[in-house]
Amino acid sequence: MPQMILLTGSGISADSGLDTFRSSGGQSLWALYDADVVCNYEVWEENFELVHEFYSKRRVELAGVEPNAAHKMAAEWQKRYGAELITQNVDDLFERAGARDVVHVHGRLTGLRCLSCEAQWDWGYRPFNPAEHRCPCCGGLHEVKPDVVFFGERAPLYQRLWERLDSLSHEDLLMIIGTSGNVLPIAGIARHTRAVTVLSNLEPEPTIPENYFDHVIHGRAAELAPRLDELVKKILD
Ligand SMILES: [Zn+2]
Repeated sequence: MPQMILLTGSGISADSGLDTFRSSGGQSLWALYDADVVCNYEVWEENFELVHEFYSKRRVELAGVEPNAAHKMAAEWQKRYGAELITQNVDDLFERAGARDVVHVHGRLTGLRCLSCEAQWDWGYRPFNPAEHRCPCCGGLHEVKPDVVFFGERAPLYQRLWERLDSLSHEDLLMIIGTSGNVLPIAGIARHTRAVTVLSNLEPEPTIPENYFDHVIHGRAAELAPRLDELVKKILD
């Protein structure tokens, strides 16, 4: 059976109302906080309380949104074709749409970890309050970090992504949805893979030459889900 990998970025969750780092304005959390301060591995410990305030607010925001048709479609592809879901998104909307074993290469908003004892734990949608909360394993505080990959931080799961991409053959499908190509080298990935490639973004991105893809569909992921499904069926069935 052909393999399918679905690689996604923030565009897919933007349709659920989650603001993204690159398309934020007005009252977006991204406009209220300086990402170079609250998402920066070099300086996060100096800004410990602000970092936790920002991520606590993002968890509350996440609790208030729902998975959309594209998340549900992805969960359906997983059931139907065993699709592997690899996402740059830190939200849990794929899981809430019924998907399992989602590979979060940039970590998870609902998790915390302790850099001191290497514990990782689920925190749900609660605020983290440095005045009362501690690492459940070592009791430490100042190395408790959101389980999200910050700018300048190593992303260990990239290795998994490269290995899985290398494993694809010409009968497999690599679908990429909602990513700007500013973080992952989407153009290079599309150029070098042996798989059939589908790109679906809201609009053309300057960093992604679309002629590297076999199929390109522009629009909102949530609205395009049925069209994308037709294409997937044509390629894999
Ligand atoms: Zn600890």
